Amino acid sequence: MSPAEQKFRTVKGMMDIMPPESHLWQMVEDTAKRIFCTHSYHEIRTPIVEYTELFRRGVGEDTSVVEKEMYSFIDQGEDNLTIRPEGTASVVRAYIESGASINEPMTRYYYMGPMFRRERPQKGRFRQFYQIGLELLGVTDPAADAEIVAMTWQFLTAIGLKGSIKVELNSIGCKECRPKFNEKLVGFLSKFEDCLCEDCKRRIVKNPMRIFDCKKEACKARLKDAPRISKYWCEGCRTHFDKVQAILTNVSIPFVINETIVRGLDYYVSTAFEFISDNLGAQSAVGGGGRYDGLVRSLGGPDVAGVGIALGMERIILLLNETGKKTEFLPDTFFAVLGEKAKLTAFPIIENLRSQGLTIDWDYGAKSLKAQMRRAGKVGAKKVVIIGDTEIEKNIAIIKNMDTGMQQEINLSDICQNLSRHSGTDSDIKGTL
Ligand code: AMP
Repeated sequence: MSPAEQKFRTVKGMMDIMPPESHLWQMVEDTAKRIFCTHSYHEIRTPIVEYTELFRRGVGEDTSVVEKEMYSFIDQGEDNLTIRPEGTASVVRAYIESGASINEPMTRYYYMGPMFRRERPQKGRFRQFYQIGLELLGVTDPAADAEIVAMTWQFLTAIGLKGSIKVELNSIGCKECRPKFNEKLVGFLSKFEDCLCEDCKRRIVKNPMRIFDCKKEACKARLKDAPRISKYWCEGCRTHFDKVQAILTNVSIPFVINETIVRGLDYYVSTAFEFISDNLGAQSAVGGGGRYDGLVRSLGGPDVAGVGIALGMERIILLLNETGKKTEFLPDTFFAVLGEKAKLTAFPIIENLRSQGLTIDWDYGAKSLKAQMRRAGKVGAKKVVIIGDTEIEKNIAIIKNMDTGMQQEINLSDICQNLSRHSGTDSDIKGTL
């Protein structure tokens, strides 16, 4: 195949986000930013590539992400690097590296951006996917856990997903109570270890609780009668979790307790939560998070608490598409420009209006008036300004209201004034064809 014949495609599991869908993405991101700002969370942007060791420690050697899903490579300088599979490890690294963990231990961040995991692609699961994440560092109070859940709920409600999402909570215990639970769980599992999948057999040895993460029906069936963590909570964990629930109840956030929600790693403690949808098939989690009080320390920082969540953009967009949610991107005005002189005159007017915040579309005057009017209709412009060489000679333009069909002539020097957002309503346009 010659280079000219070669057809390039996106890499498997990765996709383009094209207009008009990109407008929906922007609506989601803008809403997230607005809501996170009102909660005094600040944006953090970390590099997409980090030293591999950060994720080995920050995500955990035993997780499937680190075991088999990372895009890692040795660069020309012999550094072992990884294209980030998630955001928390990088945020915590930056929090420590910048000195914030010492100077401003109570810090709130949000981030948005692409993550990369070499998973088997399917509905809602990609190899490049976007996450929106929140991290609240330096607060042990249960109000912090509740704030992350409440803020996420507010965000999902604001974008129109309230009816599609369930909030599930659990407490996965702490160093004091979890070992007792793990012991019971291992005792229970040992009875039918041979019936479990290979991953679960390994989990029994390394991190028994993660068995609850297994998606295989045979393993899930065996877990029906497994011991439940709530029986083993210490006083501290029970009180903390009670308080989280009380705060969430107080702000009327509906949640259910699901004792099979676990976070994979040792430094996760107490509260864990997931935002779930029944409309996503097997990949039902829109977001998940929890408290990770040991993470900052394990990445070389001080003993500072943390709690956070990560939400998957693609799954949010899938749900929005299913509920029929669309964002409309309609220009305020279309300029139909005919002839070279008209183009020269129209260009500064168009730019002036754009600088005032109006959305202006045009097609560079290349086509007939009929074709330009067709395009104006197609893009949904509310008004069309028609400028041809005849209008230039008379020093006027024609403004057409696309809803009513009414037209008026207006002096060229008055166009900006007439079209600007503050210049009154369509009723200002008088006269008919
Ligand atoms: P995690 O970092 O695994 O806790 O994932 C947090 C959220 O990111 C999930 O609830 C999903 O919404 C999203 N997510 C994780 N992995 C993928 C993936 N491979 N493709 C699409 N979204 C994902």
